[in-house]
Amino acid sequence: MEEFTKTRFMSFPREINVGHKVVDYIGRSVEDCYLGGTALIVTGPKTKHVAGNRVYDLLQDGGFEPQLVEMGECNQENVDTVENLAREIKANFMIGVGGGAKIEITKIAATNTGLPYINVPTATPHDGICSPRAVLQKGGDHPSIASIAVKMPMGVFADTEILQTQPYKTHAAGCADVLSNITAVMDWELAKRLRNVDYSTSAATLSKLSAQVMMDYAGFIRRNTEDSIWLSSKAIIVSGICISIAGSSEPASGAEHMFSHSLDMIAPGKALHGEKAGLGSIMMMYLHGGDWKKIKASLEKFGAPTTAKEAGFTNEEIIKGLVKAGSIRPGRFTILGTNGLTDEAAANLARTTGVID
Ligand SMILES: [Zn+2]
Repeated sequence: MEEFTKTRFMSFPREINVGHKVVDYIGRSVEDCYLGGTALIVTGPKTKHVAGNRVYDLLQDGGFEPQLVEMGECNQENVDTVENLAREIKANFMIGVGGGAKIEITKIAATNTGLPYINVPTATPHDGICSPRAVLQKGGDHPSIASIAVKMPMGVFADTEILQTQPYKTHAAGCADVLSNITAVMDWELAKRLRNVDYSTSAATLSKLSAQVMMDYAGFIRRNTEDSIWLSSKAIIVSGICISIAGSSEPASGAEHMFSHSLDMIAPGKALHGEKAGLGSIMMMYLHGGDWKKIKASLEKFGAPTTAKEAGFTNEEIIKGLVKAGSIRPGRFTILGTNGLTDEAAANLARTTGVID
């Protein structure tokens, strides 16, 4: 018999708090995580008013020593600034308060400085509010993004009252990102069959479940009320945790994400990550021979874009994005195979699924 050599290391948050005004309990939660002393709050000029200042006051009232820093996008310069500041003030832990970039900065800076951190998202544009991956923007002549492995947060506060104030577009993008897990898991299953890659049934099942919630409750989510955010934010958190269970992003990132990343390079700055992943999911489901119309209908129901025009892309960008997607992540086997799509196949795919006209 072959010797058993499998290992898997999973890391989870200690405290997940979801619901109405949960951020008010941040002091207690910090203590429950055995944290104390100086907290470096990373927030933005707008999100400071949404929740950053409130977190600051709550921590001060709780006897902690908070310091607040305002940051912009998640690039290397800002990450370095936060790391240096954390060392300078001898921070004991960090709290990211923001709608995307501030959380990403916190994830990377906390990991690099060896500090525990807590996330207080003010928006849910993707499933990164509680995940072991962070996205770093790389500028220059050829803007790109880097996906970096980070530690999981100690705590997450998905306050439905706060999240309700995010633009609905951002909420819908986060839901689309999680919905796209359906094709990501199909790619993973395919890679397991054809390439014998490492696969986790628990991660795949949970990932599909979170996507199913988005499908089943698409119309309800559209209401954009606290109760709909209650539902979607739990699924968004579960989606990120699946990545930790699997020890890789496979349960939440397949060919539809390769398409999204290829659009990041072809047409930088256009559309939100989750919107691109949603569009990609419609088309990759077609390639899998599955019910792509159902994905499209769900995205329509909760108001995420389902066409190039709605997402702000030209037909040419979508076709290029599809062709380039095949070479985005050479190590990851997906429905795009090893050589990706030809120009003609890409155009047919986008046209047949109604993504382009
Ligand atoms: Zn994603």
